[in-house]
Amino acid sequence: MTFKTLDDISELNGKIALVRVDLNVPVKDGEVTDITRIERVAPTIQELSRKGAKVVLMAHFGRPKGEAVASMSLKPIAQSVEEVLDARIHFAEDCIGEAAKAAIGKLHNGDILLLENTRFHKGEEANDAEFAKDLAANGDLYINDAFSAAHRAHASTEGIAKLLPSYAGRTMQAELTALNSALGDPKHPVGAVVGGAKVSTKIDLLENLVTKIDVLIIGGGMANTFQGALGADMGDSLQEPDMYDKAHAIMNAAKENDCRIVLPADGKVSAEFKAGAAYEVVPMTPATIIPKGKESLDAGDATIANVIAEFEKLNTLIWNGPFGAFEIPPFDGATVAIAKAAAEMTEDGRLVSVAGGGDTVSALNLAGAADSFSYISTAGGAFLEWMEGKPLPGVLALES
Ligand code: ADP
Ligand code: MG
Repeated sequence: MTFKTLDDISELNGKIALVRVDLNVPVKDGEVTDITRIERVAPTIQELSRKGAKVVLMAHFGRPKGEAVASMSLKPIAQSVEEVLDARIHFAEDCIGEAAKAAIGKLHNGDILLLENTRFHKGEEANDAEFAKDLAANGDLYINDAFSAAHRAHASTEGIAKLLPSYAGRTMQAELTALNSALGDPKHPVGAVVGGAKVSTKIDLLENLVTKIDVLIIGGGMANTFQGALGADMGDSLQEPDMYDKAHAIMNAAKENDCRIVLPADGKVSAEFKAGAAYEVVPMTPATIIPKGKESLDAGDATIANVIAEFEKLNTLIWNGPFGAFEIPPFDGATVAIAKAAAEMTEDGRLVSVAGGGDTVSALNLAGAADSFSYISTAGGAFLEWMEGKPLPGVLALES
């Protein structure tokens, strides 16, 4: 995978740099509640501005379905960008045409302008060639810093890259480099922790991983389905009996590809799914019987010890999906314990650790482990599609 970065642009001074960023931030009552995505794109914007480019930001917000919807205007987000960057952010009422042209025409070198929501035009999600041309007409070169939008072939993520000299921004560069070190060209042995609620949402991911890694450590509700497929009676545990065949298929594919599968050795079984609920630790084997009315909500100490012993053998770890119902203590136990162990090994330089997924990121934050991981992807859907081995159109379009 090769792509150009900001280092490959010989002259930025006075150039109009069109930058695709992800400003699809959570908003409540008109206030941005999480500025992580803005912080992530700040380095690219600041570097371009410092180097004298006229920086023109393109982004989508919400799902306006091709029409101008006032509540999905990016204008209020421009204020948050101003605060994070501590710089004036100009705004254009449309991302193409006269409004965009006039606003861009007023920029001085180093100025920053945000264009209105690209999804106010139907051509954005349709990846319409004319619309991509209109976007490209705004500037001299294109920089994509929105990995999280790269799984969509839209005009501002894919179409435009074919029309202008194109580069990866710093955040895109960091994400691609981290992901490549985890799955593209990793240092073996490579292991993955895959947990979370359901097998059905992660079939493609599991099928891809077993062909590439050395050990697959399954936990969470997902592990219940595998235990059930192997013959255990999981009682009222979260599981998907209609996925038993899939679970067997994945175990067979793993065997064919020399990928070991590690399942939890024990479970925390409780009659109640609530904070502070009483539980008993039950060994997990194909002969296990969990009575009706009880469910396995987390893994126990034997599992934690096994997983940490597996981590010790690895050079690279990929993680998606919590190892139990981590939102409700004490069922956060296994997730927190193994997250801490991975964090410590990473700090010691013994492990490259890459994690992603909405609940996974929350769980690693809860464990105080996130800052120690080599890379945490906040990309959501794009991260999962990457783990599934799917080509990401926005990344492919940057390849040189
Ligand atoms: P991510 O968002 O990181 O991809 P998922 O959405 O697949 O992760 O799964 C996270 C959810 O799985 C959490 O809400 C967690 O409570 C739930 N979960 C994990 N293990 C269990 C379990 N044993 N029983 C019930 N829910 C579980
Ligand atoms: Mg989730």
